Amino acid sequence: MRRSLIMGNWKMNGSREEGIQLATALAEGLGTVEQEVAVCVPFIYLTDIRNALAGSAIAVGAQNVADQAAGAYTGEVSAAMLADSGIKYALVGHSERRSYYGDTNQSVANRFAQALKQNIIPVLCVGETLAEREADQTFSVIDAQLDAVINTTGIEAFANAVIAYEPVWAIGTGKTATDEQAQEVHAYIRSRIAALNPEIAAKLQILYGGSVKADNAKGLFAQPDIDGGLVGGASLDAKGFLQISHSV
Ligand code: PGA
Repeated sequence: MRRSLIMGNWKMNGSREEGIQLATALAEGLGTVEQEVAVCVPFIYLTDIRNALAGSAIAVGAQNVADQAAGAYTGEVSAAMLADSGIKYALVGHSERRSYYGDTNQSVANRFAQALKQNIIPVLCVGETLAEREADQTFSVIDAQLDAVINTTGIEAFANAVIAYEPVWAIGTGKTATDEQAQEVHAYIRSRIAALNPEIAAKLQILYGGSVKADNAKGLFAQPDIDGGLVGGASLDAKGFLQISHSV
């Protein structure tokens, strides 16, 4: 009943020309698929990539969105601006934002709320660090990350949102969570949402992220509570990302 979603996260990589080439190669190579495919690109290239993908099934997302609606917030990009530019998704709370740029659980919740107000689908990134996993805090960390959003927007907001579970220790490290480790946390996240609203939980897309590659995607995506992936490094190569997109 849930469509899979394969989402690339280009992070701060590539030039305009390289981005357009990559997007064009994806649009040409994807073919007709059941699953949803999207790429999250740097703000400054959003419009170029949206144009390069026009007429294709591939959607475009931003990698962040401001936690305020408008005003004197130098350097920020609002959800209304994303909506105005034909953007479908925005990542919120990526671990790199949380660890390098000071995003807190509450500011992430505010970004999530701003996105929803403009009909941008927020992709809420959650996940524990290695130290937290080793201290048996995985579930309590995820609880706090989810609770901040639920308390801000209400559980109903998750009808129009996506969650990405990204264990921080697996991001860009080549260490993927095993299929079972990932499934365990995905099932936990779904059960927490289900405790508040079972219908929303049943429909919620929960993506796995952290060193997803062509050779591990199939096993991960076959897990019952894994509805696709958020793919960083491997999304910069058209052939590899297409292979991952075809792995559901
Ligand atoms: P990675 O990044 O696939 O390079 O580990 C995933 C992410 O940070 O979204």
